Amino acid sequence: MDTFSKPFSRRAFLAGTSSLGALYAATRLAPLPALAADLADDPRIAKQPVADKGFAAIRKIGDGLYATIADRSKGLQARCNGGILIGRDAAIMIEGFQTTTGAAFQLDTLRAVTQLPVRAAINTHWHFDHTLGNSVYGGAGIPIWAHADAASRMAAVYPKWQAEDLATFLIPWEKRVSEAKTDSQREHAKSDVEGVSGMFKPVSETVLALPNHPLDPAKMPMKIDLGGLTVVIDAYIGHTDTDLIFRVPEQNVVYTGDLATGGQYPVNINGYPTQWRATLAKFATFDRSTLFVPGHGQIFGQEGIAEMRACFDDLAEQAEKSYKAGVPVEEAVERYVVPDKYKTYRQFSWGFCISRTIEQLYAEWSGKPVAVLNYS
Ligand SMILES: [Zn+2]
Repeated sequence: MDTFSKPFSRRAFLAGTSSLGALYAATRLAPLPALAADLADDPRIAKQPVADKGFAAIRKIGDGLYATIADRSKGLQARCNGGILIGRDAAIMIEGFQTTTGAAFQLDTLRAVTQLPVRAAINTHWHFDHTLGNSVYGGAGIPIWAHADAASRMAAVYPKWQAEDLATFLIPWEKRVSEAKTDSQREHAKSDVEGVSGMFKPVSETVLALPNHPLDPAKMPMKIDLGGLTVVIDAYIGHTDTDLIFRVPEQNVVYTGDLATGGQYPVNINGYPTQWRATLAKFATFDRSTLFVPGHGQIFGQEGIAEMRACFDDLAEQAEKSYKAGVPVEEAVERYVVPDKYKTYRQFSWGFCISRTIEQLYAEWSGKPVAVLNYS
């Protein structure tokens, strides 16, 4: 039982004691699940969420700023993180989540906090787990903003999957399992089957709602004035070619989408690892007190960006060793060893995180196209 992590029992416990020692003990026993340890005392972050559905909780992280933090251990209704930003005149929301349940939770919470008009719900990029709940926003008459190419990327992949059945879709992926030459290759190929199934299923169960308000990256950075709250939208290449971030410079808060994630290997299904690393290097130059609301994982400060960069460095260093030793790419992707410090990191799948990153680096270094894993 983890009753100490439940807000009410913690509050009751704190109310029932005046001992500093006990207070300290309670704090130790009740880490905020949405926070990296270093941020537990950050005064910008509310100790209690304004709403909590298990699969996600929404808490205040600044003046008019809220973070929606998903907890995949309690369900994949949200799956990704999001946010609510409220000025004096209007509000915006970030992310469409994996399901309408996730999006409805965020919209309902916004409505419980303010009756101001909602100018936009914005997708950080085109991926299913950030967009499949969009129809809730469309149904509420809220425009859905995204990078100008996000709608066409979705349209190029998801309707095709919706016209197929899972068994047919999985044939080439299961062939990789049956043709694997080693145990590790088989395990890795199996993780890819799980990964693609985990994308295909929610897509096939959803009525797609594409973004209807394209944002031109050539016109960025773009400022949105919500009345006393300025949000700067900027485009970066990295996790996809449609990634947007949302900065509130006056409060040093950034919503990054999947350009920054915590506790997991970078998911490089549609990524550009070298440009992605350059983007993270840019994030490292943001103010030292910056709060990052990542696409997945807990809220973090600059230490989270440093951790993610170190993980990318490790991938690149191991790949470079193989490359310089003349190891063929098919073997290099199997040779990668997960260091102890990343053993707890989630991998969407081996292929989407490890293989595809190494394949792309090989392609860049050799100047020759290599067979890059393609999931669509
Ligand atoms: Zn993504």
